[in-house]
Amino acid sequence: MNGNPMEQKKGEQDFQIDTLLRPDNWDSYIGQERIKANVKIMIEAAQKRGERPDHLLFYGPQGLGKTTIANLIAKEMGAQLRITSGVNLEKTGDLVSTLANLEEGDILFVDEAHRINRTIEEILYPAMESRKLHMMVGKGPAARQLTLDLPAFTLIAATTRVNLLSAPLRSRFGAIFSMDYYEQAHIEEIIRRSAGILGLQIESGAVASIARAARFTPRTANRLLKRVRDYAQVHNMATIGEEAVYDTLEMLEIDELGLEKWDRKLLESIIKKFKGGPVGLNTLVAILGEDKGTVEEIYEPFLIKMGLLQKTPSGRVVTDEAYDHLNLRQFKVQ
Ligand code: ADP
Repeated sequence: MNGNPMEQKKGEQDFQIDTLLRPDNWDSYIGQERIKANVKIMIEAAQKRGERPDHLLFYGPQGLGKTTIANLIAKEMGAQLRITSGVNLEKTGDLVSTLANLEEGDILFVDEAHRINRTIEEILYPAMESRKLHMMVGKGPAARQLTLDLPAFTLIAATTRVNLLSAPLRSRFGAIFSMDYYEQAHIEEIIRRSAGILGLQIESGAVASIARAARFTPRTANRLLKRVRDYAQVHNMATIGEEAVYDTLEMLEIDELGLEKWDRKLLESIIKKFKGGPVGLNTLVAILGEDKGTVEEIYEPFLIKMGLLQKTPSGRVVTDEAYDHLNLRQFKVQ
């Protein structure tokens, strides 16, 4: 946590704005039409049968709206949403107390589900399948198993790394949805909606420029909009134009494609030190000084989506577009 009181205040304000911007009905949840349609059908069918909807798993990069959709499902079902994270489910006791505290009809949202400890996953299986919570009480020869009936509940899990989830856990979800990056038009719509909520006057060119730099991700779009809003406020601009966006992006060292310093460093290093590739994941990890997961989850998917990096059977290679974008054509080995 930053100790600077001004920074802290800014953090609080950002948090409040985030709450304001989070869609609270299906119409304001923009894009992801296929997922929305499927989820709505599942909810309606369950409601008609008087049952709880099946357990659901959402996976995809950060900031695409997994938590938001869990909130919407809970709202639609009139259910209480209990939120936890795989990080908090380390010990058997953590999961047992989370499950034992559930009430009839609750939705349990587990973010970062890939971080659920493997040894406690086994408690989750019977809970998901037959609403039974098996637990051991006592120690040594006096230990015995106690079984508790759980109320009807729906587990909604979210993860950025679905391949780290064990196959038995995955198989216990009634539906698994892959969340993909958003189209430019949808990101623009999200920015316009957020600008409306914040009472901002914004030109369409400015909306498009923010959207291009938003990494196809709603959270990033909102974050950039907030920074542009700050810039416009400080410069007493009544309307946000493209100029304000360019200046803000420059200050944040984000280029017009949304690449940040680290993205550029990654591509540049592969071009200059490794002749454009192929390089292995470990090389990327070494260049960035980040762990494998972060490289695979955050950096790679975006650069691949942008067509700047490619995964080939022999490793990662930088594309011609990356040479052009970084103005490094002279390094291209023919
Ligand atoms: P995740 O859980 O996938 O990391 P979140 O659900 O927290 O992502 O979404 C991040 C923010 O982006 C939300 O607070 C919300 O304001 C915005 N957002 C996400 N998805 C949408 C969407 N489909 N339409 C509008 N805004 C969205």
